[in-house]
Amino acid sequence: MGFFKTYMNRPKQKTVAREVVFTGIGVHSGSCARVVVQPNIDKTGIVFHHKDYPGDDIVIGKVIPELAMHATVVKARSWYLSTIEHLMATFHMLGITQAHVYVDAFEIPILDGSALGFVQGFLDVGLSVCEEDLLFLTPRQTLSFADEQGRSIEIAPFDRASLGDETAMLHISYVADFSNPLLGRSYFEGGLTACSFIDHIAPARTFGFLEQLPMLRSHGLARGASLGNTVVLSNEEFLNDRRFEDECVRHKVLDFLGDVALLGYPLAASVRAVKTGHSFNRRVVEHFLTTPDQWALF
Ligand SMILES: [Zn+2]
Repeated sequence: MGFFKTYMNRPKQKTVAREVVFTGIGVHSGSCARVVVQPNIDKTGIVFHHKDYPGDDIVIGKVIPELAMHATVVKARSWYLSTIEHLMATFHMLGITQAHVYVDAFEIPILDGSALGFVQGFLDVGLSVCEEDLLFLTPRQTLSFADEQGRSIEIAPFDRASLGDETAMLHISYVADFSNPLLGRSYFEGGLTACSFIDHIAPARTFGFLEQLPMLRSHGLARGASLGNTVVLSNEEFLNDRRFEDECVRHKVLDFLGDVALLGYPLAASVRAVKTGHSFNRRVVEHFLTTPDQWALF
């Protein structure tokens, strides 16, 4: 862990330089939401506030996400917030660890289905550097999570020597294996920095299978989904143009980054994930919050 001793300047925590507002509909609820992100100079981390539940806040790094299949959902005592993953991935990868987030609904807007709108919003107002050092989180030993369906996540401790990229603190190898014949098995591998996130991951949009739409809608999901915010594919074709040929696996990486952002600290590690989604990724956060002694901050 001598990396920062050799590189004189430790990174600092960041917040937004001024207020930024995001508005739009939730992909699942179809309801309109207004999200106001403000600088947090109180050093309380990333805190979600609901206008109807003052004082009943959600503090990132203190909550284990709910068991939900199609979005990342966190709960306060009296309210919940859904689909926070793309906003959280953006906080995570831009190094924003301090922010007050005020919401007036129960789902974060889907925008265009990717994280680009959040990235653009934060870059437009700029980031402000806090006095506090940015601490990274890494497991003390390699952690493995797996289930009978072939889903797995392996997280190896941060090791500067094993990472080829000079600046990446997080290296991800992700395998997606879809039953859809157009997607099949696809891979993403690389070191992630703010720049590589913006170029290669943030633009990747939410995707959905046309055949699953009636089932999702019958469960009250995907009510706001449209070709304007979701890459839709059937067994035969994509219904809209893709931003990357492998846009779907890149979006799975985006979701993973948003889910592990709930650790409350940026993750520094080598990750190998296979076929995971929100309901599986949450195990990583659960592990840290229930057994923090198995993790190290540096
Ligand atoms: Zn997503």
